[in-house]
Amino acid sequence: MNPFDKPGQWYKGAVHVHTTHSDGKLTPPQSIEAHRARGYHFLAITDHRTITDISALSTPDFLNIPSVEVNYDANALGQSYHVCVLGVREMLRLPPQTPIQEAIDRWAELSDVLFIAHTYWSGMITPELMALDKLCGLEVFNTSSQTDLGKGLAAVHWDSVLARGKWWWGFGVDDTHGINDDAFGGWIVVKAAQLAERPVLEAIRAGEFYSSSGPEIYDFRVDGRMAYMRCSPAKTINFIGHTQWGFQRRAAPGETITEAEWRLTGNERYLRAECWDADGHGAWTNPLFLG
Ligand SMILES: [Zn+2]
Repeated sequence: MNPFDKPGQWYKGAVHVHTTHSDGKLTPPQSIEAHRARGYHFLAITDHRTITDISALSTPDFLNIPSVEVNYDANALGQSYHVCVLGVREMLRLPPQTPIQEAIDRWAELSDVLFIAHTYWSGMITPELMALDKLCGLEVFNTSSQTDLGKGLAAVHWDSVLARGKWWWGFGVDDTHGINDDAFGGWIVVKAAQLAERPVLEAIRAGEFYSSSGPEIYDFRVDGRMAYMRCSPAKTINFIGHTQWGFQRRAAPGETITEAEWRLTGNERYLRAECWDADGHGAWTNPLFLG
């Protein structure tokens, strides 16, 4: 369901984070405090090949979701497939050379929120992504890939699979290791009935969230043939559909805009919206599928 039509509260979360349990700089309790202090409501620590279950440290206003990042197999460039698995308490010990779909099949028995990490950084191409089943999305923005070498944005990869009929969600994440300003630069904002593990994971699985590296999104909808988006002050707002179908509204020089609307042509098949602010930070709705 479109999260902007759904009752509930918005909860800000970090869903790809490293700590001292693998190659991060902060301990899990320090990571909780750092995220809480910046207005986050939930945290999924995804250390490499180790599940960090600090759900006992959850409070009514801060949720910890036990999670992990795993990697297997290799793409055509020799890079392994990295997958974040949220809401999981049992570690599977599979060999690193396990074929990627076989590994995903096993993890999907334990979690229904799995997504592919740092798509651009890993050099993933469309056929490799299209072949993957049982994932619910990819990282559209990864802060650490961005601050390391400018390969954080994977909107092209996302549209490439969306246009080919794979209904994937786009995740904004940090993948923070505590270096290169890679923390607090990408997050998701989830609409859920309450701040608890099941409702938040079910909302993520259903795509009831948007992602951001800065701006806020207040509304996005398609009513009949009209698309509408409202957001914090932005320089551009994009409506993006299949191949060449979409629209960009731009602010005049020195000004900003906070909304845009556009009449669909009927060729879009899906529609997602983005806004970009004056600092170059973006926010991404998930796509609405138009049939
Ligand atoms: Zn990572």
